[in-house]
Amino acid sequence: MTGIELGGQAALTHTIENYPGFPDGVGGAELGELFQKQAERFGAKVEFETANSVDLSVRPFKVNGDSGEYLADTLIVGTGARPNHLEIPGEYELTGKGVSYCATCDGWFFKDKKVVVVGGGDSALEEGLFLTRFATSVTIIHRRDSLRAGKVLQHRAFSNPKVDFIWNSLVTEVIGTDKVTAVKITNLDSGLESEVPTDGVFIFIGHTPNTQMFKGQLDMDDLGYITANHLMETNVPGVFVAGEVADSHFRQVVTSAGMGAAAAIQATHFLEKETVNA
Ligand SMILES: Cc1cc2nc3c(=O)[nH]c(=O)nc-3n(C[C@H](O)[C@H](O)[C@H](O)COP(=O)(O)OP(=O)(O)OC[C@H]3O[C@@H](n4cnc5c(N)ncnc54)[C@H](O)[C@@H]3O)c2cc1C
Repeated sequence: MTGIELGGQAALTHTIENYPGFPDGVGGAELGELFQKQAERFGAKVEFETANSVDLSVRPFKVNGDSGEYLADTLIVGTGARPNHLEIPGEYELTGKGVSYCATCDGWFFKDKKVVVVGGGDSALEEGLFLTRFATSVTIIHRRDSLRAGKVLQHRAFSNPKVDFIWNSLVTEVIGTDKVTAVKITNLDSGLESEVPTDGVFIFIGHTPNTQMFKGQLDMDDLGYITANHLMETNVPGVFVAGEVADSHFRQVVTSAGMGAAAAIQATHFLEKETVNA
């Protein structure tokens, strides 16, 4: 069951440059189609359907979709996460045209260009520092006058000549038609509005895992990510997890796919053990 669109977050990006086996990169949506084709060759059935609720209290597990109930002897939860958005004009329209939520993925496209980073936590600084490998300048725009990020990261950012900061400012609009040309900001002290010219806007204001429907059934950490052991097993025997729904750290296609492979192997072992013991 894959939701109403195939490919997850990867399909939001034009080119994936860092998935192994594609030395020239691969389209985000194309990679999803290739995954589907390969899985179907081995008998997988893909349903374009959204799950609305689950009952994991008894087996077979029940998954309620828009068009009915699915029963499952084992379940792999891979509902992913979504980067938090600023919800400002221009943000959605220019995603993939200068607006990005992943420096590792898209930084390369900003070689010798100017970028801004929105945020003030560890991710904003880590990704901002990563972007200095490509960009000529990285301007970090933060709504407060101090950073939440760790001291070591702060020190690295403050001492990097490519990084500068705009404090106490909210980004209120992303400007551009076919590509980003500037962001509009409001200074929270003076109320003054201004434009910051830029080629790219990287937004790092947190992620939200898609775990709402599992609350009260699967164990989660404080941020709502499902917790699992190294075998991808959750607190419910027979329910496994894979990808960003259980990973707030790596957040890449290759790591998510690796977790998916591990979860599938474990789910198979789980069923095989039951057959042997039956
Ligand atoms: C703009 C952007 C660019 C990126 N670029 C790169 C890159 O270049 N390289 C890289 O390695 N990583 C990149 N990433 C990160 C990468 O996309 C993710 O790490 C990866 O897609 C995570 O895979 P996942 O399957 O765990 O979750 P997701 O990709 O989030 O997929 C979750 C899937 O679950 C489905 N789903 C969710 N809820 C339900 C429900 N209730 N019912 C049914 N289905 C549901 C969704 O429809 C989706 O298909 C990028 C991310 C973004 C946002």
